[in-house]
Amino acid sequence: MAHGRTIIRNGRLLDAPNRRAEPADILIEGDEIREIGAPGMAAPEDAETIDAADRLMIPGLVNAHTHSHGNLAKGIGDHWNLELLINAGPWFNYERTREDLYTSAKLGAVEMVLRGCTACYDLVNEFPGPSVEGQAAVGQAYSDVGMRAVVTPMLSNVPFWTAIPGLKDALPKALQKEVEALKAAPMEKLAEISRRLLEEWPHDRDRINVAIAPTIPLLCTDEFLTVCRDIAEEHGAMLHTHMAESRVWSVGGYRTYGETLTKHFQKLGILGPRFTSAHAVWITEEDMKRMGDAGAHVAHNPVSNMRLGSGIADTILMRRHGVNVGIGTDACNCGDHLNMFENMRLACHSSRVKDHTNMEWLTAPEVIEMATECSARAMGFGDRIGRIAPGYQADIVFLDLADVSFIPFTDPCNQIVHCEDGAAVERVIVGGRTIVQGGKVTTVDMPALRREVETIMERLDSVQAERKELIEKLELPVSTYCNGLLPEHAQHAAANP
Ligand SMILES: [Zn+2]
Repeated sequence: MAHGRTIIRNGRLLDAPNRRAEPADILIEGDEIREIGAPGMAAPEDAETIDAADRLMIPGLVNAHTHSHGNLAKGIGDHWNLELLINAGPWFNYERTREDLYTSAKLGAVEMVLRGCTACYDLVNEFPGPSVEGQAAVGQAYSDVGMRAVVTPMLSNVPFWTAIPGLKDALPKALQKEVEALKAAPMEKLAEISRRLLEEWPHDRDRINVAIAPTIPLLCTDEFLTVCRDIAEEHGAMLHTHMAESRVWSVGGYRTYGETLTKHFQKLGILGPRFTSAHAVWITEEDMKRMGDAGAHVAHNPVSNMRLGSGIADTILMRRHGVNVGIGTDACNCGDHLNMFENMRLACHSSRVKDHTNMEWLTAPEVIEMATECSARAMGFGDRIGRIAPGYQADIVFLDLADVSFIPFTDPCNQIVHCEDGAAVERVIVGGRTIVQGGKVTTVDMPALRREVETIMERLDSVQAERKELIEKLELPVSTYCNGLLPEHAQHAAANP
């Protein structure tokens, strides 16, 4: 963490609501922005100077939803929808050591900071169950790279094949036996680890915090969801889940609860200002009102939603009902990169292909706000990051205006959202400390990280081979059964718009 004073001169500061980028100097003291003033403003003599000539300064982007374990499964699957991705979890997510979790998170952190993202909400999968040490190792990776994060274990006490009503019984008998062996962790154990995590978390919670994630509604029993709610309440922790990501989960909700997943969560008392739902592609308008009234958040992941064919979330309608909508990349095993610029662009564009007029579309300034301030609120950091303003943490990204995306420089917001792909990120500072300079990460030995990843992958490829075979055998029956649920979804959707 930087403790001195820094004065940034000669840069242009993004003013998104007004679509402007006027010259401004920024004084940083310690890890905080102290003052923003006209070019040449007075600064203490001992302040270090950053020359930001030809740079557009924007707030560090905030990734509201990712999964660090997925970084080692980059580019996996192709025709996979969400159900096949989850089905394949035991193949590519198992057998990870604590060091693997660390390295995987570090790889993702590097990718994020190189693309101008300075904070993320990370839902981490650990098998056979989460551990304080494993989650802390992930936190350490973010700390070592120099970015911020909220780390949370993905908690589940019901296996996937039982969670989707009727799925296990529809599998061939031999496969039923095999999936029965893939058990979920017992609720008591998960509750104990969650409590310990919140009590023993070793990191500075202002930079690397910890939360609770009952990962998917139907992968948790009601009893366990209630326990998660209470543990989070006791510790003032954030809660995160994947709500109605695909039509199949939505049908599962109607079959299991007799109502929408969101309505069920409302009844369980989980919706609230510390609750974030990823995706929410198939929530009804009534659900949006429930979320908005409760002060809850959505992490919108447009790239993943399209890659997996999950659908297009109606962010315009959500925002109209008062839901705070942030933007996330989701994991490298379903979004394939952790690039917030790409996700901003698709958040913007996908809002335009729903049933809304052009006057209602998400604008570029709105999308920038979603990827900064709104995401920050969705991870519980809304009071200190997401804005370049006095009193906020000095998390600033410097875009090179000599990059082709900004030639000619016409409209900063439109060019950030519609043109830029992360290639113009020249410098990144987090809490006043430079962690990317000249487009290179300064805190990590990249060739060494690559070697570590390759060593891990050699081991994983051999220990995972047997389970890969099982997963491949499951693909067709799982797809056939889940696709058979889609007409049922259409009926529910017609009855509950
Ligand atoms: Zn996710």
